Amino acid sequence: MDFAFDARTQELREKLLAFMDEHVYPAEQVAREQRAALASPWDTPAIVEELKAEARKRGLWNLFLPDAEHGAGLTNLQYAPLAEITGRSPQLASTALNCAAPDTGNMEVLAQFGNEQQKKQWLQPLLAGEIRSAFAMTEPEVASSDATNIETRIERDGDDYVINGRKWYISGAMNPLCQIFIVMGKTDPDGEDIRRQQSMILVPRDTPGLTVKRAMQVYGYEDHSHGGHAEVLFENVRVPASNLVGEEGGGFGIAQARLGPGRIHHCMRLIGMAERAIELMCQRAVARTAFGKPLAQQGVVQEWIADARVAVEQLRLLVLKTAWLMDTVGNKGAHTEIQSIKIATPRTVVDIIDQAVQLHGAGGVSQDFPLAELWAGARTLRLADGPDEVHQRSLARREIKKYL
Ligand SMILES: Cc1cc2nc3c(=O)[nH]c(=O)nc-3n(C[C@H](O)[C@H](O)[C@H](O)COP(=O)(O)OP(=O)(O)OC[C@H]3O[C@@H](n4cnc5c(N)ncnc54)[C@H](O)[C@@H]3O)c2cc1C
Repeated sequence: MDFAFDARTQELREKLLAFMDEHVYPAEQVAREQRAALASPWDTPAIVEELKAEARKRGLWNLFLPDAEHGAGLTNLQYAPLAEITGRSPQLASTALNCAAPDTGNMEVLAQFGNEQQKKQWLQPLLAGEIRSAFAMTEPEVASSDATNIETRIERDGDDYVINGRKWYISGAMNPLCQIFIVMGKTDPDGEDIRRQQSMILVPRDTPGLTVKRAMQVYGYEDHSHGGHAEVLFENVRVPASNLVGEEGGGFGIAQARLGPGRIHHCMRLIGMAERAIELMCQRAVARTAFGKPLAQQGVVQEWIADARVAVEQLRLLVLKTAWLMDTVGNKGAHTEIQSIKIATPRTVVDIIDQAVQLHGAGGVSQDFPLAELWAGARTLRLADGPDEVHQRSLARREIKKYL
């Protein structure tokens, strides 16, 4: 078993690490200040566009997309260590590289299932980083972790479809650059096959009847840098039938295909978040003295740091193994591992960040360190893309089945 990075990964890692040091970390404070001065906090600070231009110039662009025609053509195993690095500055780095959720998943859907017209109109500007996008599935009225509950209706009417429904926590939708929504809803609510009732359809932001109603908060944060998480109303929204993605009834299958890579990307970035937390923990532990000795000399602090290091190494190995399986046997063959990392990574990383918060005292919950925001972001990943319990249920059922 060879644990070394291959030459291409190594080269991109070095480029990316330099980009982070020279541009991304210094931009964190600048972005905050620029955003505070914007007319709307949902607009994009100028520094973000500068970072995007610089990343593109350095060949650090669309690295997430395995499709060599549209993206960098990296395998999941090659992309994993790069996504990890971007997780160290989650507010800026993945956006700078055009590798931010939910655009990544949406681009994958369009590349894989979109027709030529959809690719030209939406995938191309997304790949160029000119627009952003949203994926609208979750609904406030129903338990959306069970996707069969979705109530939004997509009804055929002549050459059009008419959409009615209410969605929330639609990431990215507060950003005016978010120009296109991939909406999941039922085209055949009474269909016998529960997995064929739903479809996905493209809805441009300016379509009459689409209202971005409000920004939902995350532990009191509005998550400006990710374009927020919006509540969105669809009231008699009419789009041409050609806006359907794939075939009618194919929504469930597309959602499954979309979530595999999305989940591993989140886990890779989470590991980067944990690394940042460990780094901050160590810096703080050697810099602060309490009761006559540096915090770094307290046994409990050493235990936190050691346990965090062990946990991160374990998670990284599992994530890399999952990436390798996705490359070699496909997303379906890597199902158990994708669920394992989705269960294990957010909760472990939340705990690591929490200990880093603790070590920073009041500073840990303040705006002067990135820890509070990192914690809130990591915590949401125990819910987003399916709550822990749903993955545990499905993983356990597959394990038990072997003995039936
Ligand atoms: C920050 C953030 C961003 C998001 N971005 C998007 C987005 O861009 N687009 C989008 O469509 N959605 C998005 N979501 C929504 C997210 O995908 C849903 O919140 C998630 O799928 C759970 O659905 P729900 O909130 O309806 O919870 P429910 O389905 O109501 O579930 C609530 C709880 O019930 C428990 N539960 C459910 N099923 C089981 C089970 N089988 N066994 C045991 N316990 C169970 C779990 O503890 C679960 O957390 C986002 C959410 C957050 C927090």
